Amino acid sequence: MSAGPYTLAAAAAALDEGATTSVALTGQCLDRIDQGNDALRAFLRVDRAAAEEAAAAADARRANGQPRGPLDGVPVAVKDNIVDVTGPTTAGSRILEGYTSPFDATVVHKLRAAGAVVVGKTNLDEFGMGSSTEHSAYGGTTNPWDKSRTPGGSSGGSAAAVAATQCYGALGTDTGGSVRQPAAFCGVAGLKPSYGRVSRFGAVAFASSLDQVGPFARDVKGCAHLLAALAGPDGRDATSSHAPVEDYAAACDQDRPLKVGVVREYQNQDGCDDDVLAAQHKAEQTLREAGATVVEVSLPHAHLAVPTYYIAATAEASSNLARYDGVRYGPRRGEEGGLESLYRKTRGELFGPEVKRRILLGTYVLSTGYYDAYYLRAQKVRTLIRRDYDQAFADVDVLLTPVAPTAAFGIGEKTDDPVKMYLSDVFTIGVSLAGVCGLSVNVAFTDAGLPLGVQLVGPAMGEASILRAGTLVEQGVNLLEKRPQGT
Ligand code: GLN
Repeated sequence: MSAGPYTLAAAAAALDEGATTSVALTGQCLDRIDQGNDALRAFLRVDRAAAEEAAAAADARRANGQPRGPLDGVPVAVKDNIVDVTGPTTAGSRILEGYTSPFDATVVHKLRAAGAVVVGKTNLDEFGMGSSTEHSAYGGTTNPWDKSRTPGGSSGGSAAAVAATQCYGALGTDTGGSVRQPAAFCGVAGLKPSYGRVSRFGAVAFASSLDQVGPFARDVKGCAHLLAALAGPDGRDATSSHAPVEDYAAACDQDRPLKVGVVREYQNQDGCDDDVLAAQHKAEQTLREAGATVVEVSLPHAHLAVPTYYIAATAEASSNLARYDGVRYGPRRGEEGGLESLYRKTRGELFGPEVKRRILLGTYVLSTGYYDAYYLRAQKVRTLIRRDYDQAFADVDVLLTPVAPTAAFGIGEKTDDPVKMYLSDVFTIGVSLAGVCGLSVNVAFTDAGLPLGVQLVGPAMGEASILRAGTLVEQGVNLLEKRPQGT
């Protein structure tokens, strides 16, 4: 198959110059999805007709000299917990099977307004709860680099689709690592914006104080272009920020002195593979060679991030998921037996085991007698974690950390032990609790050929710094040409 432009920026430029058409690029992506989806299962929904129509409209805009958006004609995908009017949004759950939203999420609206062509909706762990995409009610996604491994999660479908060249960019959501960790497992770039940078309107809520929509692309610049299209305040999301939106694509190339912090507490992290630490050292070296200063910083409460998250996030999830009771959304079960039976059977039969575990845990930590001991205490610890980051950023511009303790793990390897699965997010969860931003960049490969990423963390609304640092790392390691087999 002809390679075509590889990065999102190259695709946009080729379209702009008329070197290719959106119909051609979109057709190529749709064909790759058709050929690859049985094995990869990155997509839960493919919108061939709608995508072809949007692509033809993009080509017509160019032909007629009409105004074009910054992503005009570029094929992209959207995680299936972000609603759109084109077809059903399942959030990877049976409880939303066949549910179609009457409105587009703000981010979908913004993508379309920028001219992007949405090819379909990608697979995920049910309601974003998981780190491997194995908790999808529709069957897990596989990793394009090694089909016996998971692509990470919960946005595993988006990461795999981008890695397998089934689209040029994709949206994911990240509550505790769900964009950054699958990006690392699939060898692509993934950005979790600062809390409030991007509207959450129309993103199916998991834990509202943590959820953010974030972009995937094959390179950092691609994420920057997508972020530019997504960022900004939204009257439909009161938590969206009015902080000025910077020129993120320009920030990638802007020379700026960077002081980088490596985290003392992460040096001896339990269960962290040597490969991962070696990848981080390589990134550190690359940044030094590019002129950055590297110092050690401390996040004293880092070890409390995972337990704090699993109280705060489950509490919010138990409240957010109360709305799925068979009355308003999705299919019904047990209606004949009355209201109690409707609730019990709909929720009992249509939620998966991981979602039920979170609802039980979240309801427990919020219940009378336990609220102070768990939920309230977790909120206090969250404040301490946030202060750790504030203090670190008083001294440095960005932090450099691993993304996950290992490269992509095998399918089935962690499904029997939820805590093992939860620990795959030790390096990403603190960033979410602090509301700051994080970017995952591929820096190396294991001997078995699996990608290894690093995370660049910036202060709230500090996306420009991590995009610059990420670009330096990416240029230094120079691995963009390496692709999964068959792509
Ligand atoms: N893996 C984490 C969890 O299971 C984070 C998921 C996410 O960011 N959506 O909750």
